[in-house]
Amino acid sequence: MNAKRVGADAIAAKGWLASYKWLLLRRTVQIAVLALFLLGPLAGIWIVKGNLNYSVTLGFLPLTDPYVALQSLLTGQVPERLGLIGAAIVLVFYLLVGGRVYCSWVCPVNIVTDTAGWLRRRLGIKGSVHLARNTRYWILGMTLVGSAASGILLWELINPVSMLHRGLIFGLGFAWVIVLMIFLFDLFVMSRGWCGRLCPVGAFYSLLGRWSPVRVSAPARAACNDCMDCFEVCPEPQVIRPALKGAATGAGPVILSPACTNCGRCIDVCSKDVFRFGTRFSNGVPANEAAPTDGALPLNS
Ligand code: SF4
Ligand code: SF4
Repeated sequence: MNAKRVGADAIAAKGWLASYKWLLLRRTVQIAVLALFLLGPLAGIWIVKGNLNYSVTLGFLPLTDPYVALQSLLTGQVPERLGLIGAAIVLVFYLLVGGRVYCSWVCPVNIVTDTAGWLRRRLGIKGSVHLARNTRYWILGMTLVGSAASGILLWELINPVSMLHRGLIFGLGFAWVIVLMIFLFDLFVMSRGWCGRLCPVGAFYSLLGRWSPVRVSAPARAACNDCMDCFEVCPEPQVIRPALKGAATGAGPVILSPACTNCGRCIDVCSKDVFRFGTRFSNGVPANEAAPTDGALPLNS
């Protein structure tokens, strides 16, 4: 039985730094975003004012969470002009880079759920309740309909992303309980349950990223040795197979599912360097998978 640690092959093949490159970059961005928000209240340096729902950077750049703006519109409250401009800026950004980049590169809850996922692997916890992946889209729909019906920003009453972010800036209070519940849910009840099944913020951003050009691709998929490490670390492992195993069906190597968070962990942990960041437009069958002319079999297992 192979009991090696996930990612051990990658570390052996390309070194520690290259095996954690995208994870380290993500954590740097997540912490930098938090630090920018913290600098004002803690040190009086107001580069950014506000929170993840609405902020102004350097006194002129408004950024608004479009999901919050949409809930606000549905309640009949039209955000101010700056709020709408901020929503448009954020909308365009995530339309281009992939909606769920918000989840893996910005959202502070991602650090909590990644930690739970890592600990779950280390402790060998296997069991998981069943919950359909589209549950999050139903919750998203309910928050929007509920906001329109009630006249209040329904999700914002309980949004752990806003709570944690505000809590880290102004003191955690009750947010600790919510964060702990998410952590324990992902650790013991359901692998990647919060982000992958329940969170309507992720559902909203995944809809935004449906056509985004920036994508992870598996152009060297012929070199895959089926170690499964990428599936182990991926928060949405169902998105990998169509691209990675697409040679059999003639499918291209680009991961097209909007559920992919563009986190880059699959790139990190692959010892064969199968994955890389690219665009959705390079989705032709890789040249090394062309029908062999010399009688040799393609490498794909
Ligand atoms: S692409 Fe293949 S070799 Fe690379 S991590 Fe995934 S299963 Fe392993
Ligand atoms: S496919 Fe790769 S980039 Fe996309 S979510 Fe999974 S690990 Fe992250």
